[in-house]
Amino acid sequence: MPILPARELRAVVFDLDNTILRSSIGARQGLITAARLISAELKNRHSYGQRDLFKRLRLIDHEMLRRKYLYNRDVWWRTLLGELGLTTRFSWIHHVTLRYWDAYAASSPPFRDAESTLRKVKKMGLKIGLVSDSDGTPGMKRKRIRGVAFRNLFQAVVVAGEDTPRVKPGHESFRLIAERLGVQPGSCIYVADNPRTDIVGAQAVGMAAVIVKRRGNQGGNPDYRIPNLRALPGLVRTIQRAA
Ligand SMILES: [Mg+2]
Repeated sequence: MPILPARELRAVVFDLDNTILRSSIGARQGLITAARLISAELKNRHSYGQRDLFKRLRLIDHEMLRRKYLYNRDVWWRTLLGELGLTTRFSWIHHVTLRYWDAYAASSPPFRDAESTLRKVKKMGLKIGLVSDSDGTPGMKRKRIRGVAFRNLFQAVVVAGEDTPRVKPGHESFRLIAERLGVQPGSCIYVADNPRTDIVGAQAVGMAAVIVKRRGNQGGNPDYRIPNLRALPGLVRTIQRAA
């Protein structure tokens, strides 16, 4: 464990997807749904099967999320149709997006240690917040948050890119969550899974970044790393003792 400047901890702020929610299966189910709908709609206009469309969509997903930070799924489907040399109506495209998110949400249950960890942190006297990026369809992320059974444990929520001008790693959402929780950013830690989006913005406002190990999320310079959420209360105690 690295020795870091002591901080009086007042709040723990969490990321949602892949930190609290097991979103990787949901993301896959969303793409399968989209491929099925697009395949059915395009029937006679192209020669790709549902499986081919799914494979292409996975590449687009990768490109949009990893490189372009483009979360609006309408753009993903339009990109696919563009690659196939096809165009279509907006209303139909957006319908695919809504069905995609239904499938995504239905297959993204909380990690088993999420709720118990939040309850332990709360018992330790700390406030709990949530900072999550916009899903690219305004209101969708808040709708998904409302679907989390233990959402009431979050005392404040910020949807970056909707409540703030920029998505993560822009720093505005981190400053705003501290304000909404009524604490200094320097007395918060941000617990998240993605080194590309979840470290520099939090650190820019003085939060410590904690990366929870999930599949394929190496790199970055977080202040702490933990193997799973169950390890968080122990880390919180360590930080509190140092202060
Ligand atoms: Mg995440």
